[in-house]
Amino acid sequence: MQKGVTIWLTGLSGAGKSTIAEELEPRLRRMGLELEPLDGDVIRTNLSQGLTFSRTDRDVNVRRIGFVCELLTRHGVIVITSAISPYRAVRTELKERIGNFIEVYVSCPIEECINRDVKGLYKRAIAGEIPQFTGISDPYEEPLNPDIVCHTHLETLDESVSKIVDYLVIKGYIAPVAVEV
Ligand code: ADP
Repeated sequence: MQKGVTIWLTGLSGAGKSTIAEELEPRLRRMGLELEPLDGDVIRTNLSQGLTFSRTDRDVNVRRIGFVCELLTRHGVIVITSAISPYRAVRTELKERIGNFIEVYVSCPIEECINRDVKGLYKRAIAGEIPQFTGISDPYEEPLNPDIVCHTHLETLDESVSKIVDYLVIKGYIAPVAVEV
């Protein structure tokens, strides 16, 4: 049993969106659920090739991701999307449009993201080599009323992923899981 839903992971670069998505995906697949992961970087190299990091282009990118999410959600798929999606207004717009939409704020202090510097981008952004870098030289608007917050500097990956799975059960998107023995 499953209902279509978009699980929208938003947060700074290095906050843990992809890591959570990559862990959540096999966990839901093992339950026999129908899923589609939509990674922001993958979308940028395919569906949104050529777009810049201006506010206008970022909003276009997020709306495109949202459009795909909407189609899949309508057809009963659980979509897991990880994109910085820094602007509140467009996230709210998508939530209203898609309906079955869970906003997950992947929260991590910028100092910790800089410390992690998973892709080496912060170092370059701080050196002024990457313009319009979210959190350094471009805004990130925190969700005001997210459905779930994962504090990735305080909790384990398993705790973050479990919060999402539990929420899916509580909201009736998936059936309660039999305990694995
Ligand atoms: P993003 O996709 O948001 O840019 P990544 O997932 O690529 O971020 O990187 C997040 C980093 O933080 C990884 O190196 C990951 O191992 C680490 N990390 C530490 N704790 C957590 C946690 N609870 N959840 C997710 N990632 C975590």
